[in-house]
Amino acid sequence: MKMYDNHTHLRQHLDPAPPHLLKPVLESAESKGVIAGIREHAPLPEKLMNSRLADFGVTIYDRELGHFFMQFQELDYPVGFELDFVSGLEDETKNILKSLIEESDRRGLKVSGIHGSMHFLPAGKDCDGLPGLDAGYVSWDLDEDVFRAYIERKSPEQFLHAYFGSILDLTKMGIYDALSHLELARKFDRVGANGKSVYFGECEKLYDELARGAIEAVCEAGMVLELNTAGLFSDLGRPYLSEALAKYALELEVPICLGSDAHRPQDIGAGFETAEKMLADIGVKNVIGFNKGNREEIPINKSNQN
Ligand SMILES: [Zn+2]
Ligand SMILES: [Zn+2]
Repeated sequence: MKMYDNHTHLRQHLDPAPPHLLKPVLESAESKGVIAGIREHAPLPEKLMNSRLADFGVTIYDRELGHFFMQFQELDYPVGFELDFVSGLEDETKNILKSLIEESDRRGLKVSGIHGSMHFLPAGKDCDGLPGLDAGYVSWDLDEDVFRAYIERKSPEQFLHAYFGSILDLTKMGIYDALSHLELARKFDRVGANGKSVYFGECEKLYDELARGAIEAVCEAGMVLELNTAGLFSDLGRPYLSEALAKYALELEVPICLGSDAHRPQDIGAGFETAEKMLADIGVKNVIGFNKGNREEIPINKSNQN
């Protein structure tokens, strides 16, 4: 059975943004024996679309939707989205999803899945002077300087409460099939000279409690938890789901899916061997592949076990 990469994109985050291209993604997936689950960044709420935050080719502009959808029709392939949760803009987000689903239906396209992610946090007066705050939100994971400044203005503890608080709210929306990169909070994290996390070394206990609470919320919502392999290629050097947290998901019988978050065709399925080995070692037998919106159980590749 072919493994699914349930989180792939059709373009890189570049300025100016290149066009979305589906064909090279499907060709690369085919050559790797992987099924590509497209989860393109959905349009953001208007406030953010009109802000400087959106100017990084992260999201689809209205003017791009025609070209985007047409490629799926031409290649007869299911569409899918990574839809941001933005605290305070929940109703607008629901409407964005509704119109994407309606448009997919109108074009006769299946939707393979909707993944929820969280890249924006509300920014108050305490964030004055940070870049990209014209919409009242901080794009906290865009670059490390912004992240560091943001976390210094708050505190690691306050950041974690806001981060995981938003993820809890995301799971309550009732619109998402899966939660993407639970541990993206560690995007810029690494082990410091003292052997501890440079950002959360003094609050690991809180981090763990909140992360486990988020997995419980994913469980309650009947969602799938994504193990995102992009973390393997960051300084963190492991997937955005630690072995301990994956174990907790297994205990709660929360299904796990794999996603590379590839923004270039050649990165599809990157790190899957490592991820499958990690999951097999803790006793996970199957992961989820989203097939035209249905969940398929895909056995983990045993050849990765030693
Ligand atoms: Zn994301
Ligand atoms: Zn993504």
